[in-house]
Amino acid sequence: MTDIFSKDFLNAITDGIYFLNRDKAITFWNKGAERLAGYSSAEVEGVRCENNMLRHVDENGINLCENGCPLEATMHDGKIREANVYMHHKLGHRVLINVKSFPIRDELGRITGAAEVFSKIEGPTDLTKELELLRQEAMTDPLTGIANRRCMDLAAAHFETSIKQTDLSLGILFLDIDHFKTVNDKFGHETGDKVLTMVANTMSSALRPTDIASRWGGEEFVIFVPGVNLKELSKLAERLRRLIEASWIDIKNEQISVTASIGGTMVRPDETICSAIRRADKQVYLCKQSGRNCVHVEE
Ligand code: GH3
Ligand code: MG
Ligand code: MG
Repeated sequence: MTDIFSKDFLNAITDGIYFLNRDKAITFWNKGAERLAGYSSAEVEGVRCENNMLRHVDENGINLCENGCPLEATMHDGKIREANVYMHHKLGHRVLINVKSFPIRDELGRITGAAEVFSKIEGPTDLTKELELLRQEAMTDPLTGIANRRCMDLAAAHFETSIKQTDLSLGILFLDIDHFKTVNDKFGHETGDKVLTMVANTMSSALRPTDIASRWGGEEFVIFVPGVNLKELSKLAERLRRLIEASWIDIKNEQISVTASIGGTMVRPDETICSAIRRADKQVYLCKQSGRNCVHVEE
């Protein structure tokens, strides 16, 4: 079999693959099998299947090696078989896998062994994935898909510790859409929602992966910008303002765009992030007073 498919090729496949000869001794064990079962090829090659470490059991705990080994049956009748079984992992736990058994034949069509291909079943048993999804949902604003306020509370706690322990600098931007009520009044709430999403997307695409943009509430957004100084923060605020001004959505042949007022400040070493956010919010108020669609960033 390895004459047809090179070992390199079989090792590149992420599924587990192993071959048995007619004596049910393992003759090949690929890298995928090493990863899924924990045993190296050196540990299993040459070992007979009955003594093999995998000891597949079905969901009732019945040992398949002794009671209906699918590989043995395939070697006998040449039929391909498939089953979901629990494999023994080297570390002791059981892993739910899908196994398929295939006959191996020589040039004359005689069965000389069997191959098993197995892959991990990522089912409801994989709780960690579901928990991760729930955690993400709890941290995300459902309309815009960016972080929500709860996420920012957690991020703030994290940054407060980093600021105390290291000399990390943290800039805060507070962004409020101008005359947003007019957008809703003129075009409807649904269009207003689309505008909010557009602003969130424009904002996200202008930030670095380490920045965190959030929907603070309504038409207000707060951004944490770690590792910048005041000048850099000010430049970023201006870039965001321009990009938002230059974004629009098309509704019924009409281009709808908005502008934003952006306040910004740096978190001082002796204050909470909450108090810096309040200061950034005050800068937004200054923007509104000076005609909107502008930026105020101060220490
Ligand atoms: P200013 O320039 O002074 O900020 O004016 P503004 O109209 O943006 O501010 P105001 O606080 O008066 O109005 C905010 C509006 O945002 C009112 C509210 O209906 C709207 N809004 C809040 N949340 C949502 C939302 O989730 N979807 C939509 N479509 N509108 C929202
Ligand atoms: Mg507002
Ligand atoms: Mg507003």
